[in-house]
Amino acid sequence: MNASLSYAHLNAAAQTFGTPLYVYHAEKIEQQYQNLLTQFELTQTRFFYACKALTNIHILKVIKEMGCNIDCSSINEVKLALHVGFLPSNILYTSNSVGFDEISTAVELGVHVNIDSLSNLEKFGQQFGASKAVGVRIRPDVMAGGNLKISTGHDKSKFGIPVAQMDALKSIQEKYKINVRTLHIHTGSEIKDVAVFIKSAEVFDTLLPHFPTVEVLDFGGGFKVPYEPGEQGTDMALLGAEVNKAMKQLSEKYGRNLIAWFEPGKFMVSEAGFFIAKVNVLKTSGSLTFAGLNTGLNHLIRPMFYDAYHHIDNLTNPDKPLKQYAVVGNICETDTFAWDRAIPTIEEGDLLVFYNAGAYGYEMASNYNARFKPAQVLYQNGEAKLISRADQFEDLLTLQVPL
Ligand SMILES: *Cc1c(COP(=O)(O)O)cnc(C)c1O
Repeated sequence: MNASLSYAHLNAAAQTFGTPLYVYHAEKIEQQYQNLLTQFELTQTRFFYACKALTNIHILKVIKEMGCNIDCSSINEVKLALHVGFLPSNILYTSNSVGFDEISTAVELGVHVNIDSLSNLEKFGQQFGASKAVGVRIRPDVMAGGNLKISTGHDKSKFGIPVAQMDALKSIQEKYKINVRTLHIHTGSEIKDVAVFIKSAEVFDTLLPHFPTVEVLDFGGGFKVPYEPGEQGTDMALLGAEVNKAMKQLSEKYGRNLIAWFEPGKFMVSEAGFFIAKVNVLKTSGSLTFAGLNTGLNHLIRPMFYDAYHHIDNLTNPDKPLKQYAVVGNICETDTFAWDRAIPTIEEGDLLVFYNAGAYGYEMASNYNARFKPAQVLYQNGEAKLISRADQFEDLLTLQVPL
């Protein structure tokens, strides 16, 4: 069964809570996680939800209650994870260009930490020596992912310690007797090609002889999910089979019980999220018809930020004949969601729904143009609950200090 919310569910939420509105579906998140659990050999695999995709604490609780671990990108995400009750041993902090104070705070809190620069590794050695285990993020110099802005493993990427600098890494490790427990590689987002993950396993294979204390091979996240109708995501059955095999081989080759970690963000929540907006204005110009919405790139920046595709449907009139539209926002900036898209014929006042809105949607929203951030709603057991309210006018002033 494919967990999904119907037009009726989405229309009911819009009716009750108004628009623009983010709506999430707990059962779909659970289904994604169950899918992972069935594909991988669980005695040698652990999953950490990359929570930067969506950090609302009620979503984090759903994740925690499923038994999933959590991956954080900032010390504040670590604190949010602790706040909702994740045990430190189930929290991973994968840092990038952070001050060492964040790393030392995370280590003191007892969470797993991946370090991604020689500079911070040296500071870790100075402060903790061999007393705490740590992970190192390697940049494998592999090009992968949906596009350059979401690729992180190539040889011009800021992420990780370049694989060419392994001698320097090794000498810092030896100098301070650092207990390197984890090798980490995250090459980007929307990686459809299973071979990219196997390439990571090959890089790990070259490094393992030099790091006898390593027990964990962290493959990062980046699984692709379908965006366009009929599109395929990463073949998780194939990925599971290939990784299971590679992990078994590496464990045997090095005589260690190696564990694979994964950090799926988008995979866990993208398809569980819907963004609903109202058509304020229809405007024609030559052959173009603009549908102008009561939202903009302030609420969903992915199309303008990195050309992300979001499927758009007419919630109010899903059965009308298709017509071509440019779907645009209300921000004083070009904020086009779709340039030339077939959508069931739109009338002013209709509600449109954007699919795949669970990951990096609300999370990247802002108050640009002094507009309110939208509310968020969670459907669980058929019931819609408000999990964060929309801004009100006073919210725009709360952080501003009277002089
Ligand atoms: C963003 C990120 C992820 C999650 O990426 P998705 O494409 O959302 O799966 C995982 N690991 C790290 C280190 C990240 O920065």
